[in-house]
Amino acid sequence: MNIKYTTCMRCGKDIYYGNAYVTITRNIEQANYELTKNREEITVIDSSEIITFCGVCGNLFDADTIGNIINAIPGNNRVIEN
Ligand SMILES: [Zn+2]
Repeated sequence: MNIKYTTCMRCGKDIYYGNAYVTITRNIEQANYELTKNREEITVIDSSEIITFCGVCGNLFDADTIGNIINAIPGNNRVIEN
């Protein structure tokens, strides 16, 4: 029996428990470096889900595509290459 979890915000398809889906999320994070453990630790201070896609719609937007879309928004921004 399929139980609905949520709905794709692009195509309207139902997403059921057990289905893979894609979310785009805005996190506020804080990175720290623990010298005694020689490792970094990232704390998520706040997390907000912006949009949820079914697998088909979500696969249209890989991370590079989303980054390019955000960097194309006009503003006083500068592009930082990783
Ligand atoms: Zn969809």
